Amino acid sequence: MTQNTRTVACPRCGAPVRWGAESPFRPFCSERCKMIDLGAWASEEYRVAVKGAEEEQDASPAAPKRDAP
Ligand SMILES: [Zn+2]
Repeated sequence: MTQNTRTVACPRCGAPVRWGAESPFRPFCSERCKMIDLGAWASEEYRVAVKGAEEEQDASPAAPKRDAP
């Protein structure tokens, strides 16, 4: 067993990708698939979630919450 080549499926199109230096875009099969995935990532699918997280982080803790009687 000298071959140590693993193959994974491109998460974008399902094409087999050799897990090695020859596949710089792994786990994607190509730069195209990588960019498509990153594009979807940045544009729509995850935008809402990221925005929500941002808002949460952005909420200033300096807001005075006076609850005095
Ligand atoms: Zn692909």
